Amino acid sequence: MHYYSTRNKNENVTFADAALKGLAPDGGLYVPEEIPNYPPAVLASLASMDFNQIAFETVKPYVKDEISDSALSDIIKSAFNFTAPLIPVLDRYTSELFHGPTAAFKDFGARFMARAFSYLRRGEDRPLKILVATSGDTGGAVADGFFDVPGIYVTVLYPAGRVSALQEKQIAGLGKNITALAVEGSFDDCQFLVKKALADENLKKRMSLSSANSINISRLIPQAVYYSAAAAKAYNGLFDPDGEATPRSAGRAAFSHSLNSRKPVTLCVPSGNFGNLTAGLYAMKMGAPIKQFIAATNINKTVPDYLDSGEYLARISQATISNAMDVGAPSNFERMSAHFSWEEMRRIILGAAVSDEETKETITSIYEQAGYYLDPHSAVGWKGLDKLRVENKITEDVSIILCTAHPAKFSEIVEPLLGAVPVPVSLKNAMERKADSKRIPADVSALIDTLNESL
Ligand SMILES: *Cc1c(COP(=O)(O)O)cnc(C)c1O
Repeated sequence: MHYYSTRNKNENVTFADAALKGLAPDGGLYVPEEIPNYPPAVLASLASMDFNQIAFETVKPYVKDEISDSALSDIIKSAFNFTAPLIPVLDRYTSELFHGPTAAFKDFGARFMARAFSYLRRGEDRPLKILVATSGDTGGAVADGFFDVPGIYVTVLYPAGRVSALQEKQIAGLGKNITALAVEGSFDDCQFLVKKALADENLKKRMSLSSANSINISRLIPQAVYYSAAAAKAYNGLFDPDGEATPRSAGRAAFSHSLNSRKPVTLCVPSGNFGNLTAGLYAMKMGAPIKQFIAATNINKTVPDYLDSGEYLARISQATISNAMDVGAPSNFERMSAHFSWEEMRRIILGAAVSDEETKETITSIYEQAGYYLDPHSAVGWKGLDKLRVENKITEDVSIILCTAHPAKFSEIVEPLLGAVPVPVSLKNAMERKADSKRIPADVSALIDTLNESL
């Protein structure tokens, strides 16, 4: 499979190049030259396969010339060593994507990417340095994904004093090959420093540099897996038992209902940069039983507005309580439009924007009705579906809400509404770590000095 830049079809590269470069030299995003179909035998047995088998069948056509079958199996086994249960809650399902080590769905992409990088660079002596700017969640997932991966060093830049204590520990509590820099400035400053350093010719002569932000195709493709897994299960009326890690109040009976409808499903995706939803579009095109998507956003509703009007208007992001989705110019929009026209998108994606007030009401109301804890991002998804049902834009649906973070990760929002939230083991472990970061001014020479020091 080859990949081309969204800005130039002639910029045509292998999976390894697309992954290790991240962004095309012309500033475009890499997309696969085609989205393959699942073979009929695979489609027919999706519902009876385990998660890692589905992962293998989903990712394989995208990498098959470059990663051997046995290596791909190993990468998947090591990356996806946690579950993604499909839980019936009231009149819909939730797909809990937060059972990984940093308690957000970004673990799927980051862990696969880290292992793929390591494999693709086998035999390479020069260490690779990866730079990541984060406003909170991405840094933790990338740091954790690359932790202890031989030959790869990660430097995470985060705005000093502007991430939560838990996020800081996830970023700066690991040590070893992970360096954390607390930048005296904003997230935008961090991003600017990373871009500057990546473009510095002198630096590039001395070390191999790359980045690991969400536009990397090797983070996106593995995210298609949980769409196919969840859709196949719901389509066949199957679901998972809620385990200890399911965030519901103590003493509640286990959830159960069965919507054995054999109807393709509606997937509701809390969205910011739209990497997650784009991966869902890949799963649908591959043949997973998906009818449509809901692009649920907070008030940063650039894409819902585009779906309404056909006009794409990027804007400055506004702060909300679902802050991992505070994006006014979603970078993956360029990838979505490389594959689909506005008319096509309108046929398969419904937009819904949700306010902070509605988000909080939803967290409270679902807890009161079902004893189920939603984090603010997942609550945006829940409410997005409600709004479209009220407007009769969605009827007779079998719907799945993608729950993108564990509620305990956003306890500053959830606890004032509901009281103490059960904390999963992964987060308890992270809270016990000690954050150890270096403070630097928002100045590229300070970043370059740090990178040189650690050569
Ligand atoms: C990153 C993130 C999102 C947004 O995902 P995109 O792929 O950027 O649309 C939603 N929820 C949580 C918890 C996140 O960390």
